[in-house]
Amino acid sequence: MDLRLYDTLTRDKRVFTPLDPANVRMYVCGPTVYDFAHIGNARPVIVFDVLFRLLRHLAKQGVWDGGKGETTVTYVRNITDVDDKINARAAERLAQRGKAPGDLNAEIRRLTEETYANFKADVAALGCLPPTVEPRATEHIEEMKALIERLVASGHAYVAEDHVLFAVASMPDYGRLSKRPLDEMIAGARVEVAPYKRDAMDFVLWKPSKPGEPAWPSPRGIAAPGRPGWHIECSAMSDHWLWTKAEPRLSAAGLTHPHQFDIHGGGVDLVFPHHENEIAQSRCGFHTPVMANYWMHNGFLMVEGEKMAKSLGNFITIRELLRGIGRRPWPGEVIRLTMLATHYRQPLDFNEAKLTYWRTKLSQWVDNFKLFGSQDFDYALWTGGAKISPSKEVAEALSDDLNAHEALTHLDRLSSRAIKQDVAAANELGSNLIWLGLMRNAYANAYETILAGSARPDLISKYTDAILDARAIVLNEYKFSKDGAERAASLANVNRRLSDLHPELRSDGVQLIANEHAVVSLEPITTEAAIDKSRIQALIDARAAARVAKNFAEADRIRDELLAMGIVLKDTKDGTTWEVAR
Ligand SMILES: [Zn+2]
Repeated sequence: MDLRLYDTLTRDKRVFTPLDPANVRMYVCGPTVYDFAHIGNARPVIVFDVLFRLLRHLAKQGVWDGGKGETTVTYVRNITDVDDKINARAAERLAQRGKAPGDLNAEIRRLTEETYANFKADVAALGCLPPTVEPRATEHIEEMKALIERLVASGHAYVAEDHVLFAVASMPDYGRLSKRPLDEMIAGARVEVAPYKRDAMDFVLWKPSKPGEPAWPSPRGIAAPGRPGWHIECSAMSDHWLWTKAEPRLSAAGLTHPHQFDIHGGGVDLVFPHHENEIAQSRCGFHTPVMANYWMHNGFLMVEGEKMAKSLGNFITIRELLRGIGRRPWPGEVIRLTMLATHYRQPLDFNEAKLTYWRTKLSQWVDNFKLFGSQDFDYALWTGGAKISPSKEVAEALSDDLNAHEALTHLDRLSSRAIKQDVAAANELGSNLIWLGLMRNAYANAYETILAGSARPDLISKYTDAILDARAIVLNEYKFSKDGAERAASLANVNRRLSDLHPELRSDGVQLIANEHAVVSLEPITTEAAIDKSRIQALIDARAAARVAKNFAEADRIRDELLAMGIVLKDTKDGTTWEVAR
């Protein structure tokens, strides 16, 4: 079955054919790094992650290279780290700390690095793979200047009052992507009519920097230092990574389409003016008929039926949803599934009822895989020994312009078959869950409904939600690592977060405890109860074995690992005992 994608530019769903059968190239507009990303930002990241996974799967199947399976998929998602909002936020932070404005550039660097690190952690918790390249705007200023100079040289841009502007009138078919009537675009552009513009619709490619702001030597003809406008970075970086860097490995077919690539994606809010202007810059700069062959846009996201806005109090960051800041924490996988369940081009109304529905659904799927799938397959998944690929039905559904709803319906069918003791169906369900980024195999146990513990049953039912919240925290924040000390530290961190989660638990004399297998339970508050005794015994046994083997370094490492968990060992002639450090 062919992959078919809806193209915003041509308004139709077409069979996807890469320009170069050996290289599929995709560019998606990424975040402006000045604050935590909101859940509206999460939608394109998730949608294009699924497309990236599908493209890689089809590439491996040899769909485009005659069965060889050697097609490379390159996914570029930029990071906008030069922007007015970034400058303003950095200045605000300096002022709050009473620092001189002269430190602005250093503060901008701190702000953008910090925000980018948060963004990466957030989207990883949402089950998104890192793109092939995440280029930063500030590392591609030279490429932007070169493109701007080409545009000026070919009469598509002009210099005025230290700005460089794109002359929209120089491009007869400007506006094809958004298909907006000319007068509407002019009216929109009037908001920022500036005296140096020849035409109200002309947009900024380069502008002078204010003193103290980030600045670079300007393109030819401008003495004052300046910085790029927003749109130019995507034209310059997509060309750099998907044409210049790709050129040496392109086959003859790819080389006949210079400066073009396959898929350009982003949210529907970027169609105008951002993508319209990217097309204008790239096509006029490189004299090409198209910039990208398929333009894909995900629909708007609303919250509880309303447009998300800080003023409405329904502005939610990904971090708040994951960590439960000011609201219930949700596992990243549940957020991902909730977003995928609505077709990517449709507007999505994001709400608690949907999250709750998909949390139940996902935990049933994971349970049914765990209960009815075969142990050796589960083990192979854990250790990377099993081939993880989607069912034919799932790949086919997604190949129809990412029909995720149909793909999820197939998971439901597999789940129903699993309940009837169909081991193969259960295994297939597990594979699909991992392939779709809906189950991190190492954490799968966290979905199991083990509420056992030594707490009173009435408290367990009273705190069912708290236990579900705790499970979300474990799923999002526990770092499974090969390094035992790192795991122990991460678990200790999770347990600290859990004790802060529902302070009212304390008055009932209970606390939430997570163990290394991410099973959450409700336990009476005693130090003893907070300890995973079987894990301690396993470590003591491992240490004894290491000592027998005269591997004293390992024995000491295990002792330190236990100490990090707050456990002190006592070696006696009858063996090793332990107690809680005081
Ligand atoms: Zn862009």
